[in-house]
Amino acid sequence: MPFSDRILMGPGPCNPYPEVIAAFTRPLLGHLDPEFVALLDETNERLRAVFRTANQLTFPVSATGSAGMEAAFVNVVRPGDAVVIGVNGVFGGRMCDVAARAGAIVHRVDVEWGKAIDPQQLLDAHPAPRIIAVVHAETSTGVRNDIVELGANKGDALLLVDCVTSLGGIPLEIDAWGIDLAYSGTQKCLGVPPGLAPLTVSARAIDRIVETPQSWYLDLNMIKKYVTGEGARAYHHTAPISMIYALHAGLGVLLDEGLEQSWARHAECGALLQEGLQNLGFELFAQPGHRLPELTTVVVPTDLPAGLDEAAVRRRLLERYGIEVGGGLGAYAGKVWRIGCMGHTARPRNVTLLLGALAEILQR
Ligand SMILES: *Cc1c(COP(=O)(O)O)cnc(C)c1O
Repeated sequence: MPFSDRILMGPGPCNPYPEVIAAFTRPLLGHLDPEFVALLDETNERLRAVFRTANQLTFPVSATGSAGMEAAFVNVVRPGDAVVIGVNGVFGGRMCDVAARAGAIVHRVDVEWGKAIDPQQLLDAHPAPRIIAVVHAETSTGVRNDIVELGANKGDALLLVDCVTSLGGIPLEIDAWGIDLAYSGTQKCLGVPPGLAPLTVSARAIDRIVETPQSWYLDLNMIKKYVTGEGARAYHHTAPISMIYALHAGLGVLLDEGLEQSWARHAECGALLQEGLQNLGFELFAQPGHRLPELTTVVVPTDLPAGLDEAAVRRRLLERYGIEVGGGLGAYAGKVWRIGCMGHTARPRNVTLLLGALAEILQR
């Protein structure tokens, strides 16, 4: 089969930066080679810069974003712990599942999909939870949830935040906002293929890591020794070397551009896309004021041209224009499209191409 060169405008993966693809061709080093260890240290230093944290325990978990979620929960949840979780989309729901499997008593705060969660509702959900958890950028709905008030008022609780679709794309301040555990994914706004889950853990959260987490693979007590070099660089599992080359390169591109400049580029592309869609007569799904620039949800119009349904429109985008966009999830399957503008994909040229393609397909 020939290689197809798509414009990836779905909810992730995005197109990787060219420097990232080039990094995969670096000759392989062993995971205990001093040169590789130095590259991993530099990668973690770059992650600290992008997360805006001084947390010593900051590194990429060896699997996709969901493993970051699992690592964040299983290392601090003890059976019977009260955990408050905000749910206004698929990923908040996934957090509840993961926390419950780790033995938490989940206090779930459900908010209508497409709307943001009021932080006060989370703070009021339990008098003394062990963890308050929320998704910063809900990729299933295109909504941004506010974090600052949670950090300021968390009390004794740990604040755990899903930053999979926010890291690199919109302002995020781990230390200034008082976030204790945060994880991300490489394939969203970092411009790297899927395969790693950047994780950062505050000193306060490290103090509360349980003795024997239910997952051996994600046990931070053991992984910490390799990552931080505490004691020796002890073997736990083989680091996915080439993925770390790729992340190192992607973070290099991001920091060379400047984190604020990357946020501004995502903001510009999101605004161009959202204005352009409205000018074509589309209705946006997410609550105004809480719309993510990097992930736009648009209501599928009811007046599609004869013979075209929503899936056929996406198929035509893919086959004729080489553009991938996402469909809706859960109750919104078939009802919304999810259009990502993340990482290397977040360029005005891609927005213009998509708007032109949609106008041609839908004869608008
Ligand atoms: C993509 C995503 C995840 C899961 O990441 P995977 O890489 O698919 O495992 C978790 N949370 C949010 C908000 C996401 O967008």
